[in-house]
Amino acid sequence: MPLMKAVQVPAPGAEFELVQKEIPEPKETEVRIKVEACGICHGDAVVKEGRFPGLSYPRVPGHEVVGKIDKLGSKVTSWKIGQRVGVGWYGGPCLKCDACKRGDFLNCESFLTTGISFDGGYAEYMTAPMQGLAEIPQELVSAVEAAPLLCAGRTTFTALRNSGAQGGDLVAIQGLGGLGHLAVQFARKLGYRTVAISRGKDKEALAYQLGAQNYIDAESTDAVAELKKLGGARVILATAPNSKAIAGLINGLCPDGQVIIVAWQNEPMQISPWQLLGGRRSVKGWTARPARNSSEDTLRFSVIAGVVPMIEVFSLEQAALAFEKMVSSKVHFRSVLKMDGNA
Ligand SMILES: [Zn+2]
Ligand SMILES: [Zn+2]
Repeated sequence: MPLMKAVQVPAPGAEFELVQKEIPEPKETEVRIKVEACGICHGDAVVKEGRFPGLSYPRVPGHEVVGKIDKLGSKVTSWKIGQRVGVGWYGGPCLKCDACKRGDFLNCESFLTTGISFDGGYAEYMTAPMQGLAEIPQELVSAVEAAPLLCAGRTTFTALRNSGAQGGDLVAIQGLGGLGHLAVQFARKLGYRTVAISRGKDKEALAYQLGAQNYIDAESTDAVAELKKLGGARVILATAPNSKAIAGLINGLCPDGQVIIVAWQNEPMQISPWQLLGGRRSVKGWTARPARNSSEDTLRFSVIAGVVPMIEVFSLEQAALAFEKMVSSKVHFRSVLKMDGNA
């Protein structure tokens, strides 16, 4: 059997290991993808740390995948060999739950998750259900730049687009990392008055370069007072995993404003009900759950609006280093694995 290189997590909490594995064969309703690039996301930490219930090991993580279809399952008719596709967190409906049996796939109760339910893109090849694929627009020539749009991009774009904020509304992006640097670009291109919030002066120039109209240094100024001076935020998109900092921003919302959390974190958040009652404010979470064509919408919008991730490229062999730089926020601003001889 032909072999490929892959990076897998052998057991919960174990280090990544580079292995030779058999190139997988697609099942009836799957395709096989020759992977060109795969972004590294905080979501991959649940595989590394064993925090996903029922996850079996070894497992190849990776859910920001771009590649070309190189083999079709026997029942796949809507995709072609050679087509460029992306696979994000959403890997397709389970086809077993009550919602799926009713044909209501968007409300699937246990949808498949790429790199968790099945092996992901830290590999030269992977297989994926045909329902989880997104077509990559021709204009996105660079696979390494397209990859982060599949999760970081999709999550922040759909969070903003479904937030209820209208063009001209004040939208603040807390954090300027892998998610935040894309969110600022999306917010500006969606027509919001865009405010970036980070700690220190280091990222101020970057924030303006990405399209922010205001920058708030949460270290040297009172971010809530600064937001209030601007009229209060309709939406604060919280992209940095810091529960205390996020809770502290709630008072910077305008009446009926909402904080939307998109970053993974375990730390409990302390909020006084009064912060919510006064002004009917709310806090909610948002993930890249199934939604009609939302990956393709994100990719299309990114092409139209010129939203481009800022990335550092690593080889598959450097996956552990690339992951470590992402976890410790030392990467500018998204780690992406590029497979040998591809992209
Ligand atoms: Zn289902
Ligand atoms: Zn992700």
